[in-house]
Amino acid sequence: MSTPITQLPVAVLGAGPVGLAAAAKLIERGLPFFILEAGERVGANLLDYAHVRLFSPWQYNVDHSVVKLLEPTGWVSPNPTDLPLAGELVERAMQPFAELPQMREALHLRTKVVSVSREGFDKVKSAGRDQAPFVIRAIRDGKVVELRARAVIDSTGTWNTPNPVGASGLPAIGEREAASHIFYGIPDVLGTHRARYAGKKVLVVGAGHSAANGLLALAELAKQVPSTQLVWSVRTPVSTRVFGGGDADALPARGALGLSLRRLCDTGALEFNAGLRITELRQEGGKLLVEGVDRNGDAKHIDGVDEIICATGQRPDLSPTSELRVKLDSWLESTEALGPLIDPNEHSCGTVRPHGHRELAHPRVGPLHGWREELRPCAHVPDGNGLRTGSLGGGGDCRRHRGRRPGAARAARDGCLQQQWQRHGRRGKWRFVLWAPAPTATIEPVAVASAGGSCGTKPRGKPIGIPVAAAAKAGCCS
Ligand SMILES: Cc1cc2nc3c(=O)[nH]c(=O)nc-3n(C[C@H](O)[C@H](O)[C@H](O)COP(=O)(O)OP(=O)(O)OC[C@H]3O[C@@H](n4cnc5c(N)ncnc54)[C@H](O)[C@@H]3O)c2cc1C
Repeated sequence: MSTPITQLPVAVLGAGPVGLAAAAKLIERGLPFFILEAGERVGANLLDYAHVRLFSPWQYNVDHSVVKLLEPTGWVSPNPTDLPLAGELVERAMQPFAELPQMREALHLRTKVVSVSREGFDKVKSAGRDQAPFVIRAIRDGKVVELRARAVIDSTGTWNTPNPVGASGLPAIGEREAASHIFYGIPDVLGTHRARYAGKKVLVVGAGHSAANGLLALAELAKQVPSTQLVWSVRTPVSTRVFGGGDADALPARGALGLSLRRLCDTGALEFNAGLRITELRQEGGKLLVEGVDRNGDAKHIDGVDEIICATGQRPDLSPTSELRVKLDSWLESTEALGPLIDPNEHSCGTVRPHGHRELAHPRVGPLHGWREELRPCAHVPDGNGLRTGSLGGGGDCRRHRGRRPGAARAARDGCLQQQWQRHGRRGKWRFVLWAPAPTATIEPVAVASAGGSCGTKPRGKPIGIPVAAAAKAGCCS
């Protein structure tokens, strides 16, 4: 006889900051779980940009539950106001957490999830679906493995599915062919990738913090190797937006990034193309000719480009969910309720209010509620994400709601783990609340991830952890 669904472990997909925060919550709750991580190590995506200094300080970067589990081992928290490099976050907090005895058996590295479904049910079949365990198919050491779970927390991030150079959301014509000249993400311009950029004409595409980081590093390189040329292009014609909140930014380091970039532009150290929509990349004599249209719709090109750094953000990989019943916002690919709250056409850093399970769960269109989005309320925004938005630093208290099924929990009873911002008393603190398994329920939700909205957004009342991070489509945490 197969194991009843209620006795199955919870599956956490991805061991980034959010996945580890989820694990910490599950450990606290005494719920069995496993984590499947595609990379060689926890924090694999952060290690991709290990050299980048985060704009949120330590105090906001490590989940309270992670800290609580680490402290008894003698772990000493770094100075809460220091800004870590992304790599330091992995080495000093995430890796020690991964080495805890509670994590050792649960963590499966080099295990890439390729799909999630309901055991014995294709997408169409309804009767009895609610009782069917989730089945998670993954590739480990070149072999297919399948694991069963009572609930799934998707914390796979968006980092691995970058947006293209092409302005229409499609790769520019010729973009694939020019791939060897394009770096998607944030290269280590002053370190590992120095030779690739020194003395070259480099075009940085994108209006977010990743682009800013790249440009500032290139400017430093240009001081050392003056023949290095910097070109920057953004789709938006409004240049003020791309420089962010400046002195008014809720996170000073993030504001400083925008200010430094503005200064760089003002000095004429880079060629700035606002409102350029790139349509085509042509290879000519080992260089790239970048073609597009300007803000007036007139043809414009940039020639002689050696390298492109594409920092146009990321989007979720929806392929693993294709056999699940999810209902997505048609352009943000978030849950429907969340879309309007984080729509970058309306919002920028600082204007997204905190949100929780109501916005992050799917309507009851089937047995799955918010399999992906509930845990990454911001990360799925095409161009934005944030530690806090994913769940890191979620803090919060683990409350039990036994025998009670508040609407919040009810909405999630299918097994997707849920959380909620809750205020304790009229003037109380805002906290993340975790829903515990109720004795009678098929699968009761437990919560994990924080429900942050946008970089620098403060929850009403006093937030726990970082002011909820980032997500303006073109100008936030990407
Ligand atoms: C340059 C840069 C600077 C940033 N600075 C800040 C900052 O200062 N403050 C802030 O709050 N946020 C910042 N962010 C955003 C922050 O890094 C992300 O929000 C955060 O890493 C999200 O955590 P996550 O766990 O959701 O995703 P990730 O860190 O992307 O982790 C996802 C994990 O899932 C794994 N994975 C992916 N797909 C699969 C699969 N199919 N199967 C198994 N495993 C899988 C990955 O290998 C990875 O380990 C920054 C982002 C960038 C790019």
